[in-house]
Amino acid sequence: MKKAAISLLTLTLCICMLLCTFADVALASASRPKVEWTYPVSLTALQSPHVILVNVDNLLDKKYKPSPLVKVKGIKRATSATVELEETTLNALKEMFEAAKATTSYTYYVTDSKGVEKEVTAEFEEGMVLYLKSGYRSYGTQATIYANYLDRNNGVDDGYVAKPGSSEHQSGFCADILNKKWAALDYMNQEFETEVEAIWMKENCASFGFILRYPKEKEDVTGISYEPWHFRYVGKEVAGYIMARGLTLEEFTTESQTALNDFLSRGGDIAQQMEYEFLTQNAPPESNILDVYGEDGDPEVSLSL
Ligand SMILES: [Zn+2]
Repeated sequence: MKKAAISLLTLTLCICMLLCTFADVALASASRPKVEWTYPVSLTALQSPHVILVNVDNLLDKKYKPSPLVKVKGIKRATSATVELEETTLNALKEMFEAAKATTSYTYYVTDSKGVEKEVTAEFEEGMVLYLKSGYRSYGTQATIYANYLDRNNGVDDGYVAKPGSSEHQSGFCADILNKKWAALDYMNQEFETEVEAIWMKENCASFGFILRYPKEKEDVTGISYEPWHFRYVGKEVAGYIMARGLTLEEFTTESQTALNDFLSRGGDIAQQMEYEFLTQNAPPESNILDVYGEDGDPEVSLSL
């Protein structure tokens, strides 16, 4: 009987040692790569197709079409025409529209003509309602719009209508969004910026992965006039970074590409870094002992997420 107990103990110890070895292997594979990724946005987020830069210097191919491209249903639209969006973008847009609808009171600040800032609270009995005006636009459609505009404008391209391939709408990752008042009009202009819905979207869009793509003070960088209705999906991490710093996608692309080139020149390995990000992001949160003591004298433990 004693012998059996000793054998059982030995067996248990062996299993424990084996398990510890496996745990070490798992930990080793999640260990920090030798070349450190120092940019504040993860390399994984930068590798997403959603961060693609589309402008007059970075044209989309004639054949480019987002996939999966889906018909928009179930949200308010400012047009009777069919609107299509890339699927992830549409899901994020629905989330933003639902959050707006759940907003019954919104406080914001406006600066009057004398430069005095004042607080305004808007109430929405039935929630704030957003209207989708447009989404995906094919290369062919943009080419027709462009050609028609040139015809009307004596063949002069004054930059008012995007050249085919340079419109971000071909990506399927962006949307023009209005409120009820502007949805009823057949034009859009920059006065939309003073509407509470435009202010709310600018402040909250990043939480859903969107950026205000053509900001007011950055027209020289984007080459596009200020568009307070045009929102571009880039994913939550990139959107949070861009909106918090007031960047354009052009500036972000230059900055992140520089970081990537620096990483590669130091011998960094993209696949290894992405695997490390995957393992660390999916690891259970580390417990963190806070310098706060509960009533029982034990340190309060929190999970750092
Ligand atoms: Zn647009």
